[in-house]
Amino acid sequence: MSDPQPLKSTDIISSGVKPTGILHYGNYFGAIRQYIELQDAGEAFYFIVDYHALTMTPPPAELRANTFRIAVDFLALGLDPDKASLFVQSDVPEVTELAWIFSNCLAAGDLERGVSYKDAKQRGQTPNAGLLNYPILQAADILIYRGSVVPVGKDQSQNIEIATRIANRFNHRYSADEPYFVPPRGWILEDVAVVPGLDGQKMSKSYDNTIAIFEEPEVLRKKVMSIPTASTPLAEPMDPDNDHVFGLISLVGDDETVASIRESYLKGGFGFKRAKETLIELLEGYFGEARERRKELMANPEVVRDVMAAGAEKARARATETMRDVRELVGLDWRNA
Ligand code: AMP
Repeated sequence: MSDPQPLKSTDIISSGVKPTGILHYGNYFGAIRQYIELQDAGEAFYFIVDYHALTMTPPPAELRANTFRIAVDFLALGLDPDKASLFVQSDVPEVTELAWIFSNCLAAGDLERGVSYKDAKQRGQTPNAGLLNYPILQAADILIYRGSVVPVGKDQSQNIEIATRIANRFNHRYSADEPYFVPPRGWILEDVAVVPGLDGQKMSKSYDNTIAIFEEPEVLRKKVMSIPTASTPLAEPMDPDNDHVFGLISLVGDDETVASIRESYLKGGFGFKRAKETLIELLEGYFGEARERRKELMANPEVVRDVMAAGAEKARARATETMRDVRELVGLDWRNA
């Protein structure tokens, strides 16, 4: 896969994150860092997908608290409500109506081949219909704001393909002369396409292998110290290219630091303990400022609520406009008969 194509002036950016408790490095380097970069490049809609979280049936109090916490984290990390619309998915309930309409623009078999659904089945779980239909709601999320560019990690590429298929089928069926939706494209950066977790698999809450962005210092230390490494003797050279510790160092260190640590690995006499200590220092430094901002926001929850409410208002205005057109295009406007 190649790096993303440059943005066009007509592109609209749209992407969401599930409120499943914590934001981890996979979320940050796979998605949020790109959100921050792209908010300067065009009109952007970034949202917290609490409807999607229901597929995991969280206790209501937990869902509520997690949604709020991700809103705080969005702002602390540098998403700017003056540049992008930041909001919570369920504040724009029109998206579920579009999802229903879209569910008739896709073959059921396409959903059964969905990676998350298949993965849950392979793990012996009994996935609910929400997980099966997840990609349809995601397509509605993107297209209701006329999103054409979707910054995500590589794990989402299949879902973007489904959104593209839905947009094409909708256009073909209902607006062949003048395609209504722009088929969206993923904005996936190759170097961070899949951020590995503590065990080397994709970092994911479902695999219990995450490092949270705002991990408590002692938990961070424990987690980093537990990352499995090769059993290279201290004096011997270590292989940076097959080491999760070095992989994480490359994400958070500046070029010079990473090059000098690579050299230490190759020279030998460095050791994984020192590598891990270096990683902890780098991780703490990388999000130091965001941590401070987060503390302030936690102490002023009304600021967060106001910002998210204003974002929802902007998003809902766009969604209402889209739904007016869509209802007419598909014939859900019987009064005009
Ligand atoms: P989710 O938490 O599944 O809603 O994911 C939110 C965003 O983070 C999506 O764009 C994902 O592609 C991205 N993401 C999650 N985990 C990873 C990972 N391990 N590596 C890269 N991107 C990820």
